Amino acid sequence: MGNIRIDGRIVEYTVAQAGAEALAGAAAEPLPEEKSKDEPKVIRMHERLERPEMLIGSTYKVKTPMSDHAMYVTINDIVLNEGTEHEKRRPFEIFINSKNLDHYQWIVALTRIMSAVFRKGGDVAFLVDELKAVFDPRGGYFQPGGTFVPSIIAELGQVVEKHLTRIGLLKPVGPSEEQQKFIDEKRAEFAAQSSQRDAFAETSYPKGAQLCGKCSVVAAVMLDGCLTCLNCGYSKCG
Ligand SMILES: [Zn+2]
Repeated sequence: MGNIRIDGRIVEYTVAQAGAEALAGAAAEPLPEEKSKDEPKVIRMHERLERPEMLIGSTYKVKTPMSDHAMYVTINDIVLNEGTEHEKRRPFEIFINSKNLDHYQWIVALTRIMSAVFRKGGDVAFLVDELKAVFDPRGGYFQPGGTFVPSIIAELGQVVEKHLTRIGLLKPVGPSEEQQKFIDEKRAEFAAQSSQRDAFAETSYPKGAQLCGKCSVVAAVMLDGCLTCLNCGYSKCG
């Protein structure tokens, strides 16, 4: 939050009334768009922003081996300052639907709190790290493709991450161009020397690959006597 510089006498002021807004603790701060009269009006995310009649949403299907039924995660976005240079798409609310009602009350609580965090504004990307760090004491599972997920909540974190990346609130994660080139080279090298091309069918990583400690994908293979990950490029030998 920026500081407001006061360079004159304060002549006009009112005392906040103990109305409904004051009780909610909302009256103390001016709305962000009211702060400066000189700058063009830029609307930022804040909790008193009214929900428009219609929001654009994305629904992600999440199927885990932990349940017979898939979860459908819907994240609705609000577009602020549409058509201006300050146009920004931000998540506004999240819903999770599933036929499986075992965890209904927790899902309702979690999605309401996440929606509240979205509407508060500011940096919401911390939710991704918090969710992805949750592990299930009964053990996690492997996604198709060989990525280890420590819990369903962590997978939900991945969904939110994917969504925030897609709408431009998070920078895409992944190997840099240089690393990707290195990975591709190593991958070609491995394929050439072990002629296990058919084993690439299911997971796209060679059979016998080990779990990479860095990116949790079963993609680490021995290359020149050194365990090297074909997904993120991590190598035990540096
Ligand atoms: Zn890796």
